[in-house]
Amino acid sequence: MSSTRRVYVKLSKICETAKNVNLSKFTSNRIGGVAKIMVSPSNLEQIIKVLDVIEKAQISYVVLGNMTNVLIDDYDGVVIRIANNFDNVEIHGSKIIVESGCSLSKVCSIAMMHSLTGLEELFGIPGTVGGAVVMNAGAFGSCMENVVSCVIAICNGKITHYTNSECDFAYRHSNLQDKFVLFVQFDLKKGNKNQIQTKMMEYMSTRKNSQPLDMPSSGCTFKNIVGLPIGKLLDEDGFKGCSVGGACVSTKHANFIVNKNNATVNDVVQLIEKLQNHILLKYKVMPQTEIRIIRRKNE
Ligand SMILES: Cc1cc2nc3c(=O)[nH]c(=O)nc-3n(C[C@H](O)[C@H](O)[C@H](O)COP(=O)(O)OP(=O)(O)OC[C@H]3O[C@@H](n4cnc5c(N)ncnc54)[C@H](O)[C@@H]3O)c2cc1C
Repeated sequence: MSSTRRVYVKLSKICETAKNVNLSKFTSNRIGGVAKIMVSPSNLEQIIKVLDVIEKAQISYVVLGNMTNVLIDDYDGVVIRIANNFDNVEIHGSKIIVESGCSLSKVCSIAMMHSLTGLEELFGIPGTVGGAVVMNAGAFGSCMENVVSCVIAICNGKITHYTNSECDFAYRHSNLQDKFVLFVQFDLKKGNKNQIQTKMMEYMSTRKNSQPLDMPSSGCTFKNIVGLPIGKLLDEDGFKGCSVGGACVSTKHANFIVNKNNATVNDVVQLIEKLQNHILLKYKVMPQTEIRIIRRKNE
């Protein structure tokens, strides 16, 4: 029996496990290679057992949430998918403690129902709380850093508690990327339910008006640079509609690359490089991708 087959058999005794998974069925951009194995543990005990099997087999793995911020190629190891399956929410006064697979928008709605303010701007960001805290996701001037008081994650086999400052949050950055985020605690404030709801609806409507939500994408392609809003520059320089293969710069928002016609990972990567080269040549800065590109082959 091959080592991958042995790992598959062991993992399938622990939790939902599939092999040769077409990842495009899960990614928000509807692009993706094949994962040799994908597991979906639904509690802490299963997560620990899964990691134990993977570590003993010395096989590579990646933890993913709702795959709304990734461009992922074929993956030879194990994709651990933490979305919906690990999503309990507990409320203690103005604190909300959430399992990392919970959708961020669901937490925002629960906060609103309990008249807790602080998450309004984040309502509508697709993806899980785990993905959001790793990415320090944000919108409309706020981000996870402003509302997360602590994170519990597995690091080097140990369950570890990180305070807000220990997460090293910065613009679309944290030091949680190489850890396995399990739980996130939000510290919110008492507010007015109607006002919270109204604000959420306003932010959602701005989102709908400015983003190509009807097309598959991974959100903003590039991080903005202070004083250089990349989407605006690409728009002014005529890149809306520019395409490589099936990947195309959105005609609605130039920082979004949409999957217009069966785009491949290579199409998106080539389009990203084309846009990066333009910004570098014209503005003398290299824009960094906000999207996480996960490639195992041809790296
Ligand atoms: C239409 C659209 C609009 C968007 N708007 C915004 C926006 O306004 N603001 C914004 O910041 N982003 C936005 N995004 C990007 C994306 O939704 C966010 O980054 C989101 O927080 C990612 O969550 P996810 O669960 O999908 O993470 P994934 O895409 O699955 O993963 C993202 C990263 O987090 C890591 N990760 C995920 N879960 C865990 C975990 N439990 N433990 C350790 N690592 C983990 C992955 O390894 C990966 O590196 C948008 C995306 C789309 C498609």
